[in-house]
Amino acid sequence: MARTFNFSAGPAVLPEEVLLQAQEEMLDWHGSGMSVMEMSHRGKEFVSIAEQAEADLRELMAVPDNYKVLFLQGGASSQFAMVPLNLMRGNPTADYINTGAWSKKAIAEAKKFCEVNVAGTAEESSFTTVPSQEELDLNPDAAYLHFTPNETIGGVEFPYLPDAGDVPLVADMSSNILSRPVDVSKYGIIYAGAQKNIGPAGLTVAIVRDDLIGEAVPGTPAMFDYKTLSDADSMYNTPPTYAWYFAGLVFKLLKRKGGLAAMAETNQRKAKALYDAIDNSSFYANPVDINCRSLMNVPFTLANADLDATFLAEAKEAGLVTLKGHRSVGGMRASIYNAMPEEGVQALIDFMADFEKRNG
Ligand SMILES: *Cc1c(COP(=O)(O)O)cnc(C)c1O
Repeated sequence: MARTFNFSAGPAVLPEEVLLQAQEEMLDWHGSGMSVMEMSHRGKEFVSIAEQAEADLRELMAVPDNYKVLFLQGGASSQFAMVPLNLMRGNPTADYINTGAWSKKAIAEAKKFCEVNVAGTAEESSFTTVPSQEELDLNPDAAYLHFTPNETIGGVEFPYLPDAGDVPLVADMSSNILSRPVDVSKYGIIYAGAQKNIGPAGLTVAIVRDDLIGEAVPGTPAMFDYKTLSDADSMYNTPPTYAWYFAGLVFKLLKRKGGLAAMAETNQRKAKALYDAIDNSSFYANPVDINCRSLMNVPFTLANADLDATFLAEAKEAGLVTLKGHRSVGGMRASIYNAMPEEGVQALIDFMADFEKRNG
């Protein structure tokens, strides 16, 4: 069996230890005589799996008691609608920071439900930076301030936490959740699709401050109301049980590895090595403002775009796959989430140097 180093932006690489553990437990979970996929979500076995996963995520992120942790479906994209539906609370306007493709999608969806004030945008830089706190034009009466801490496509990450005063801060953390410690108490809502840095697709995690639950717009579908889901401990309907279980195995692994501070250290080392390799060559380039470079998604271009196809084909031969950049950006993109081992990043750097020597 030959596993590749998979640089996909999502669904993305998962920790090999966890894949093997899931394989081991596939046919008979802990003597239950069945796979987790075959269990009732209301049975005591699955309830214990679900509760343990929540407890471990709470511990990893130090989630305060006044926050609910929800295990949902519908992806981060459903949160683009759920956030305004639940947070407007009679207030017609919300603030959004526009830092790229995912911010734009969140804004477009929110416009169906509320008046959006774009409080800051990096559009004029072609999304190679983020607006500073001083540049934000915040409305003190906004229902909330939404931002995207890490733009997965542009490879731009906020180097600071926007301060919206008493206005709840909402973060689409899909591509950098669990990559470093965060102070959850500074946020109203943190949400993330699981398929980047948590586990399999199909699960969405939302961490919601409890005072923001319970005032959804009348007519909000039950599945889009945080209250329905929170009151039912994320089991109003059948939850994505297997993805929830798998995420729980990932949380345990991260705890064993020293938690999010340890992840942050490794992630910084991985990203620095790759950005250094790009910066120290005149063959590769990354356009992002050095202060706003993503630790998770590293886009880069070759000096001669005619070589892109050759680069991708030879990288694949070398076991380095899914490096093609997003069609809106071009070039390459290496996503180096928690589960990408340092050896994978080093193998990419070595390949890049060799490719440059032969083609530069
Ligand atoms: C992938 C991604 C999304 C979309 O997630 P889905 O779970 O597919 O809806 C939204 N925001 C960010 C930042 C992403 O990286």
